[in-house]
Amino acid sequence: MFIGGNWKLHLDTQSATQLTQEIVAGLSDKQAAEIVLFPTFVHLPVVRDALCNSDVKLGAQNQSEHEQGAYTGEVSAWMLKDVGCQYVLLGHSERRHVYHETDAMIAKKLTRAFEAGLKPVLCVGETLDERDDDRASEVVLQQLNAAFADCDVAQIQTTVIAYEPVWAIGTGRVATPDQAQTMHAIIRGFLHDRVGDKARDVQIIYGGSVKPDNAKDIFSKPDVDGGLIGGASLVAEDFLAICSAF
Ligand code: PEP
Repeated sequence: MFIGGNWKLHLDTQSATQLTQEIVAGLSDKQAAEIVLFPTFVHLPVVRDALCNSDVKLGAQNQSEHEQGAYTGEVSAWMLKDVGCQYVLLGHSERRHVYHETDAMIAKKLTRAFEAGLKPVLCVGETLDERDDDRASEVVLQQLNAAFADCDVAQIQTTVIAYEPVWAIGTGRVATPDQAQTMHAIIRGFLHDRVGDKARDVQIIYGGSVKPDNAKDIFSKPDVDGGLIGGASLVAEDFLAICSAF
C-alpha cells in the first residue's frame, strides 16, 4: 500500500515542520504502507529534516522536463534528488488544467525523473464531461499511453499510478469504491499488456476527496493499492486515520 500526502500550496516553515512531526509521532511501528509527504519545493529541506529517523519518504509536487539551463522558475529532477526526494508527482490534474501541461511534457518529465533516480507518481483521470460522455477509460488510457511513450518495462513497473478523477479532487465528491475499482482494473489491464504478470506489483492508488470516513471502503477494493490525499493530509489526525485504514 502507498499513501501520499499532497500539501499543494499550503503551510509555512513552522506549520510544515509541526505537521511532519505530528505525522511521524503518530505512525505506528507496524505501519505497512509506504507513506510519502509532498510539501512545496521551499519546504522540502525542513520536512526532510523533520523526517529523519522515520520511514516516511519525501516527494515533490512537480518537476521540470528540462535537466538544466535557462528555465527561470523551474526545478529539475536532479535538484529534487539532491535535496532528498525519492518521489515526484507528475501530471497532477491541477498541473494539466491550470498550467496546461501536455501529455508530451509529462512524458519528458517522466524520463527526467527516471534519469535522476526519482520514483514518479503519475496522475491520470478524466473530467466530469468526459465521464458523462462515457469517455473516462479512453481518456485515462490515452494519458497512460502518452506518458509511457518513451519508458521501458522496468520504468513502467517502478511508477506509482494515481487515478484521480478530476471531478473528485478538492470537491468533496468522492468516486464510489466501485467506480474506483472499475477504473483501477482497467489500468491494471493496461499494465498487464505492457509488463505482463508484473502488473500485479505496480501500485495503483486512488485520489479525490479521500477522508477518514471513506478511506477504508475505497482501500478495500482489490485493485486499489492506497491513496493520494490532498485536503485531509493537512490535518495530522485525519491523515493518520487514513494511513491506518487498511
Ligand atoms: C489531490 O490533490 O491529489 C487530491 C486528491 O486532493 P483532495 O484529497 O483534496 O481531493
